[in-house]
Amino acid sequence: MDGTLKENDLSGVVAADKAHVWHHLVSHKGFETTDPKIIVEGKGLRVWDQNGKEHLDAVSGAVWTVNVGYGRTRIADAIRDQLVQLNYFAGAMGSIPGARFAERLIEKMPGLSRVYYCNSGSEANEKAFKMVRQIAHKRYGGKKHKILYRDRDYHGTTIGCLSAGGQQERNAQYGPFAPGFVEVPHCLEYRAADQGWGDLSGEAYGQRAADAIEEVILREGPDTVGALCLEPVTAGGGVITPPQGYWERVQEICRKYDILLHIDEVVCGVGRTGNWFGYQNYGVKPDMVTMAKGVASGYAAIACLVTTDEVFDLFKTDADDPMDYFRDISTFGGCTAGPAAALENMAIIEEEGLLENTTAMGERLQENLRALAEKHAVIGDVRGAGLFCGAELVADRASKEPVSEALVKAVTGDCMAQGVIIGATNRSVPGYNNTLCFAPPLIASADDIDEITGAVDAALTRVFG
Ligand code: PLP
Repeated sequence: MDGTLKENDLSGVVAADKAHVWHHLVSHKGFETTDPKIIVEGKGLRVWDQNGKEHLDAVSGAVWTVNVGYGRTRIADAIRDQLVQLNYFAGAMGSIPGARFAERLIEKMPGLSRVYYCNSGSEANEKAFKMVRQIAHKRYGGKKHKILYRDRDYHGTTIGCLSAGGQQERNAQYGPFAPGFVEVPHCLEYRAADQGWGDLSGEAYGQRAADAIEEVILREGPDTVGALCLEPVTAGGGVITPPQGYWERVQEICRKYDILLHIDEVVCGVGRTGNWFGYQNYGVKPDMVTMAKGVASGYAAIACLVTTDEVFDLFKTDADDPMDYFRDISTFGGCTAGPAAALENMAIIEEEGLLENTTAMGERLQENLRALAEKHAVIGDVRGAGLFCGAELVADRASKEPVSEALVKAVTGDCMAQGVIIGATNRSVPGYNNTLCFAPPLIASADDIDEITGAVDAALTRVFG
């Protein structure tokens, strides 16, 4: 530690954690065989564990959340001041930070105008799905209620969100799911052959993948489809960036069939890809946008569903209809800590030029990974947007056969031992959790990026020779 960190009483913490905490994403064998790692403190993009070991966090708190980095006292101070003044009030009442953050957010999202507060990415997506269903009832006799989602995309953990989930690892054993959710094909050019589109690449592939969405709409009947929900860059499903032309065609299809375009910015939102929002990289105009993780960088739980005026107005009917509103509520949507933190978070991104830094450091990260691909044949593909990058590992470049999960774990484990935390995508398609994933805080410097890829280089050499 650098001497400035807090003295912590750690006695009994590991034992208490091991005995009583049911951690996310840990196999039961893992609970039995390994001691938990307790993260005790963080500063910048470094964290320290219970043994005082320092780690460079290249995944922003495991799940791509801590965009502005750790130890931001100004966010903590803003939360404290707000909590002392007013911690909470919900229902139809507003709050000062709620109003101010909504105004700031809308400035960054031309074309959108209304912010609906809640607590998690899953909840924000659920609310968007509910809006689509209610609009179908109010405007289309219940018919235009289907929600399309994409293979390999993820929208959250609830049964509703899993019904819109394209990742088998997340969905298996949790069915039956809600009806009215329909899958469309993914858009991973590197694996076009698996879709029978092996001879297509670049824009032609993007067009084909978007056309496949239209085919599903025509099969289902356009008058039954209310919305299309997509991640701008598929995150946990493989760090999938769409080729040129994909999004333009997707937008065109939505307009043609009067289908709401819902973009899930839970990962990409608030700077992660070098723009405020991922969709802004592609010139898309969504009707609904959901966001969570980076909104307050994990300093407080806050999520938002942002819509256009047109969507807002679809809930208006005649004045004496008691049902003419979105009949939804979120208890903790009334917490003031979230928007207070989000305001500071946004100010930090602006004052420190973190969007520009994300673009520059994202380019460096991809360049470094491409250089590693020259040296390590196991890297089959490098892709990403801003500081959300992936390197897909294959046993053989020609067949693109994925490397085993055990080998991916050996690489991430080796990096961890070196003091660099990197991630890997999940089994969205069984056997294909083979993409190393990098999403450091947006404050990463060139030295930090080189340290991350240096650790990966050493790990790949040790694991694959
Ligand atoms: N949407 C995407 C794209 C995500 O990656 C996630 C979580 O990782 C969610 C939604 C769900 O967010 P939360 O875990 O806050 O419910």
